[in-house]
Amino acid sequence: MVDAFAGLVEQRDALASGSCSSRELVDAALERHAATHVRLNAVVHSRGERAQRDADEADARRASGKVLSALDGVAIVLKDNMVMRGEPTTCSSRILEGYSSPFDACVVERLQAAGAVVLGAANMDEFAMGSSTENTIHGVAHNPWDLERTCGGSSGGSAASVSAGIVGGALGSDTGGSIRQPASFCGVTGLKPTYGRVSRWGLVAFASSLDQIGTFTHSAADAALLLETIAGHDPRDSTSIPEPVPQYSEGLDGDVEGLTIGLPKEYFDVSGGDPEVLERVRAGVADLEAAGAKVVEVSLPRTRYGVPAYYLIANAEASSNLARFDGARYGRRAEGVADYQQMYERSRSEGFGDEVKRRIMLGTYVLSAGYFDAYYKKAQQVRTLLRDDFDAAFSQCDVIATPTSPETAFALGEKIDDPVSMYLSDIYTVSANLAGIPGISVPCGLTGGLPVGLQLLGRVLDEGRLLRVADAYQRRTDHHLVHPPEFA
Ligand code: GLN
Repeated sequence: MVDAFAGLVEQRDALASGSCSSRELVDAALERHAATHVRLNAVVHSRGERAQRDADEADARRASGKVLSALDGVAIVLKDNMVMRGEPTTCSSRILEGYSSPFDACVVERLQAAGAVVLGAANMDEFAMGSSTENTIHGVAHNPWDLERTCGGSSGGSAASVSAGIVGGALGSDTGGSIRQPASFCGVTGLKPTYGRVSRWGLVAFASSLDQIGTFTHSAADAALLLETIAGHDPRDSTSIPEPVPQYSEGLDGDVEGLTIGLPKEYFDVSGGDPEVLERVRAGVADLEAAGAKVVEVSLPRTRYGVPAYYLIANAEASSNLARFDGARYGRRAEGVADYQQMYERSRSEGFGDEVKRRIMLGTYVLSAGYFDAYYKKAQQVRTLLRDDFDAAFSQCDVIATPTSPETAFALGEKIDDPVSMYLSDIYTVSANLAGIPGISVPCGLTGGLPVGLQLLGRVLDEGRLLRVADAYQRRTDHHLVHPPEFA
């Protein structure tokens, strides 16, 4: 058997050599989920016996020489906003209680076509709105490094399930940082691909011009395997990019010689972030420099407008996307109502949590006739300027390195009553979504016993290079191999 923290590459090799079976991997994941559930609350829906049956099928395929892919037989956790036929999807919302999907999300189809076993669904902030996995009907999720702290959000459960060694790979969605920030807080590798690289068919929409599915793994090499499995054109998602998918895992050569890394000076302004976090990130960049990369200073002058522009655009789109949850078409319907009007009102007021309601109201406001030009349109103009900032920076460098988050995992309850401080903590991640570019967060050490994330941003469709740099870093350092003491 392999260790609980074995990555996907290691699991692939163990399956190939016969030193473990898919059924053993899946049983171990189910047992670890059961043993840690009370402490972490990371996985909110386990497929149990159905996952075991899928694993038995993978073992039967292997026995007859019909292995489907490198991931055939490994266990993967979804985020609870990706649908799977016959399985519940709640988006951590009361309004979707009782909903079970009649179809598979594209990423689920692709995982299954590769033979991967879906273990279950992970805790998240309701409709992916939040940075702490505290806005959830399933109860808060906890950080494996310190159970009193948040595992980040909104894909916190996915991050925690990899960090605690339940699975070697999980999917998340990232609208403004929801993969990279929890990856950073939980000490795992989190990749948000280019907008359109992975189909969102079957992902419950939050903000359609920003949402992107990506991966949580222990390493960049594992992320490469998972991304090449789920990426690629899908005509059912009109924003899906019709470009072939590179074999990312074959491009990992450990070489960063001659690569130019840009450090945006606005992101290293000490007034904005925890100085110890910035120091860890600088040390990570120095490791890459020692490996042959060149480091230059760049500027992303409109960075400070990223958070306001993001929260105007994301909430506007959310108010429109969430209009479909009305008690008539999906999920939970209020009982004992007098008429349709009351049915809609009560279903929505009982079904949505406070943060979701706050965002629907803000989004509706900025789209209303009197305010559209002042807020929504202005935010879209700022979005274009942010994209121009990245274009200018990428004319001077190949990748941009920044902290993923200004701080390490904060305490549960610390920001939940202060939405603005929660929103401000997204400062280093939202711009990539607004510009549509890919980003990856890799662990770069600890401060105060908590993981710090180094974020690398790349040009559109340059995931291959991001993975190569992240992998080169992980070949030279072992921060990604340090696991939370309570679970190690
Ligand atoms: N924290 C951000 C928000 O609350 C990002 C969420 C996300 O990426 N899904 O909107």
